[in-house]
This record gives sequence, C-alpha cells and structure tokens, in this order.
Amino acid sequence: MWREAIGRLAEERTLEKEDFLVLMEELPREGEQELFRRARETARSVFGREIYVRGLIEISNVCRNNCYYCGIRRGNREADRYRLSREEILACCGNGYSLGFRTFVLQGGEDPAQDDRWVEETVAAIRMRYPDCAVTLSLGEKTREAYRRFREAGADRYLLRHETADPVHYAKLHPAEMSYENRIRCLWDLKELGYQVGTGFMVGSPYQTLDTIWEDLQLIKKLRPEMIGIGPYLVHHGTPFAGRKNGSMIWTLRLLAIFRLLYPEVLLPSTTALNTIHPEGRSLGILAGANVLMPNLGPAERREKYELYDHKRSTGGEAAEGIRLLETILGKIGYTISASRGDYGEHGVH
Ligand code: SAH
Repeated sequence: MWREAIGRLAEERTLEKEDFLVLMEELPREGEQELFRRARETARSVFGREIYVRGLIEISNVCRNNCYYCGIRRGNREADRYRLSREEILACCGNGYSLGFRTFVLQGGEDPAQDDRWVEETVAAIRMRYPDCAVTLSLGEKTREAYRRFREAGADRYLLRHETADPVHYAKLHPAEMSYENRIRCLWDLKELGYQVGTGFMVGSPYQTLDTIWEDLQLIKKLRPEMIGIGPYLVHHGTPFAGRKNGSMIWTLRLLAIFRLLYPEVLLPSTTALNTIHPEGRSLGILAGANVLMPNLGPAERREKYELYDHKRSTGGEAAEGIRLLETILGKIGYTISASRGDYGEHGVH
C-alpha cells in the first residue's frame, strides 16, 4: 500500500485522499525513510544542496487579534509588549546585510500603531537603503488597498498562513470577530497584486483532523502559493488552549515531504517551531525536503517577548548572529547556505 502511494506521489505528483491517509496513518518506519529520501532527492534536483536564509525581524508583539492558540493575543495580559521603531528595524537590516542576508521578513502582530502608512514608509526606507534585497511582510490581515500600497512601496513577498481551510475548524481557533472568508480574501488579493505568497498552517492545532488537513492540501492546490509554511502547533500557557497537547513532529515532517513531492519548486521552510519541539528539528526538516531557514535578526532582548508559544528558541542557529554555527550544523548533513535572494522560480524546472 504505502509503496504504491509514495510511487504515485513521487512520479505522478498526485495524491488521492486514500493515499494521503496511508502516508499519515499507516506508514512503517521503512516507508517513512523512503518518503523522506524521495522528498530530499527532489529538493536536491531543484535547489542542489543550498538552503535559502531569510532574516526574520519580529517588529511588534502588540496585536489587536485574539487567536486562541497564539501567545501574543490581545487577551494575554502577561505578555510584555514591545514595538520596534523604524530606525531599530533599519539597524536590524544593516546588521543582517553585513552578515550576508539579502531578504528581510518583517513579521508582527496586527499593531494599530504600525498603521498602513507607517508600514508603507518602512518598506520604502528599507528598499531605498538595500535595493538588492527582497522585503517580505507577515503582518496579518489588511485591506486590499493597504496590500497594494505596500507592494508599490517595494514589498515583494507576503506570508499569511491560512491556519486551516475548514471554516468550522477556523471558528474553533479564532474568536467570532475573525473570519475564514477574510483570511482567504487576503490571500487572493495578495496573489492578484503580484506578491510571492506564502501560506500554511500549524500541524496538530486543537480540533484539527486528517480531514481538515486534507482540506488544507486542497486549498494549497488551488492557491498555488510560492511558499508553504508549516510547523507543529505548540502550547502557550497564557492562552485558552493552555494544557492542550503539542502538535506532532512526525506529521509535520511527513507533510513537508508530501508538499516537496507535490510541488518540487515550492519554498518550504524548516520552521522555528519544528526546531523547538525537537533539538534536531531543523535538520530533520531539511532531510524531509525543506529548503528555507529564517534566523532571527531582531534585537536579542526582544526575541523572547515575541512568544507565540512556550519555550520558543531564539538563540544559537535560530539567531542571525549564529549564522556561522548554522553553517556548521548544515555542513554536518551536507548542506550550505545560499548567497542568493532565493526568489521563487529562480531555479526553473529541472
Ligand atoms: N500576525 C501575523 C503573524 C502571526 S505569527 C499573521 O496573522 O499572519 C506567524 C505564525 O505563527 C501564525 O500564522 C501561526 O501559524 C504561528 N503560530 C502562532 N501561534 C502558534 C503556536 N502556539 N504554535 C505554533 N505556531 C504558532
């Protein structure tokens, strides 16, 4: 059963629901190794042994939203809030630039103080100072007009995980004032405005089932994002989901491999969440087909405050200044850091 399922996935790049269930539920150890091997061979045929790095700058942990899973939700009174000024962000970019980063990802809560005009001017300032760099935003749900202005100011990419493609599941993860429809509207707007789009979801979020994950795969098939971000759901003690179980590393790795085999050229990050749930998570992700890492370029004393989940890693190979350590870690599994911006499609079809 599983051999045929992997064969169809790797050779025809298709996945029927029965095969998906086999790969998630009935894969023996040997089958899992085969799945990961095929996925990393596919990644190597497109990207070689080069890993793209993006410098992540967490610009604010102030958020007007109240997502039940997220540690920086508005309702978490214990969160120690901060926001970076434009000058601080530019300083992070400068530091990153000298470390070799050519992509900056500005991620944050939906902070009303960093309004559309502020974001637009910040993007323009980064583009002006670092014209050879790509600017990626990950600032949540905005109006189409705002996305248009950010794009005009020079933003190239936008990361917005859909979180779940099942509206009923979505409503169990978010308060009533948020809607699945708006999240999806945002993703299509971003696509139409010419962004390279990243979407994705947490693996093992409360109420998630294999049926909802299957819906995630269908949405991704329709949207065709340039990047797919997935990582295990991890509990945060200051949320309504405190006391729940963390998501599964195994399922995260299998999904990474499935996405790599379905979409050989897609950008697939090995996430901080994966590296938080397991000390070798980052390398295991790469060996399952991931090809992107996002070390943290933010000021060290702020990183621990951007606490989406408990025990989030922000030092060593997760920190931009740990880039040499990261090189060593990657070297051990036979990979190097790419010097390129790593735009989608750069490698063409091989
Ligand atoms: N405000 C932005 C950025 C959110 S943080 C936005 O809405 O897109 C980026 C991602 O972290 C989220 O999309 C979510 O998938 C993930 N995340 C949040 N809480 C998490 C948790 N407890 N465990 C694992 N991942 C989490």
